[in-house]
Amino acid sequence: MKILVLNAGSSSQKSCLYDLSGGLPEQPPEPLWEGSIDWSVHPDTAEIKVEANGKVVKNAIAASSKSEATTHLLNSLWQGETQVINHASEISAVGHRVVHGGAEYRDSIRVTPAVKEAIARLSTFAPVHNPVNLEGIETMETILGSDVPQVAVFDTAFHAQLPPEVYVYPGPYTWVEEGIRRYGFHGTSHRYCRDRAAHLLGRNPQDLQLITCHLGNGASLAAIRNGYSIDTTMGFTPLDGLMMGSRSGSLDPGILIYLMRNHGCTADQLDTLLNKQSGLLGISGVGGDLRQVIAAIEQGNQRAKLALEMYIHRLRSLIGSMLISLDHLDAIVFTAGIGENSPLIREAACQALHFLGVELDSVKNNSHPIDTDIATPHSSVRVLVIHTQEDWAIAQECWQIMHQSV
Ligand code: ADP
Repeated sequence: MKILVLNAGSSSQKSCLYDLSGGLPEQPPEPLWEGSIDWSVHPDTAEIKVEANGKVVKNAIAASSKSEATTHLLNSLWQGETQVINHASEISAVGHRVVHGGAEYRDSIRVTPAVKEAIARLSTFAPVHNPVNLEGIETMETILGSDVPQVAVFDTAFHAQLPPEVYVYPGPYTWVEEGIRRYGFHGTSHRYCRDRAAHLLGRNPQDLQLITCHLGNGASLAAIRNGYSIDTTMGFTPLDGLMMGSRSGSLDPGILIYLMRNHGCTADQLDTLLNKQSGLLGISGVGGDLRQVIAAIEQGNQRAKLALEMYIHRLRSLIGSMLISLDHLDAIVFTAGIGENSPLIREAACQALHFLGVELDSVKNNSHPIDTDIATPHSSVRVLVIHTQEDWAIAQECWQIMHQSV
């Protein structure tokens, strides 16, 4: 069984093909083929990169639509140097990352006309993401035909068990009735980290209490008890919680009222300010990438120093807030670009937990650990660095759904 995964974003799209003919392996396998399309440099030009058979092929094409670029990308599965299959009919199923599943989708689901309608309806909650996710599903239908099963894997699904005291906002009760509540995101990554942590620790995921820290350009934490996410830092939208690359994270909502009254800010302007001009970028002024911020600090940039100190303070305080939902802590997990690559951030986060007996092994922390425990043997809590593999997690979900429906 070959499963294609499509992770479609607003200005980029990643795809992978996995060969699961031998069933689900215990260790995450390498994909047979990986492809990406990037429109971020020029919206009319699709920069396509394909890796397969030990080769990397790059080209840029003028593509008037996403579907045209995707068709071009998928041709490389059965043509040229990166060919890994003979015909599109060898693809048994397609798994899609869909950002918002609302309150109704608590699990991954096979795509039907009703599911497509719901993804479209939920676009009011995720206007940047759900429409492109739906476009990806429709493009695949056009290229592969409607007989190839497609599966929607929702970013919100892993947080479907949040208790009401966590997901209800203290506004008027009518908000909850309208769907204005905490949903949480990055669920596929948090769930993957739960399962990988259980594997690395030789424990059952249902017995573990974890704090998972997904620290990429977007960032969120989850408190996981008995296998379930019971609290998380992102909320109604992926703007809540931690300070991020260019997103503000949580702030006093009174600031928005002030900006509307005194600066005449419109909804679109607030959207741009809070999503694209805040966070590490907004404070440092040098960029939203932590590496740029650290390089600027080394040049003596004080705003960059402040940005890093704020990032650490906010990360520590939200780890504290996740902690109180648990009655003990087996492991803290660091994942995604910053979590996997920054010993400085891991050390700063763990330092604040020293009083609880959390002890980092600084040699392990500094030796590019991946899927490794970096705590000392005496540490009261394991500290894991896990390479998140959302595409592989989507392929696994797809495999499970396909086997349920046989
Ligand atoms: P996305 O949320 O876009 O998927 P990633 O998980 O790829 O993001 O994380 C990207 C971020 O990871 C970069 O913006 C950068 O801040 C951070 N990062 C990547 N490599 C390093 C590194 N070696 N040191 C510090 N930060 C890093």
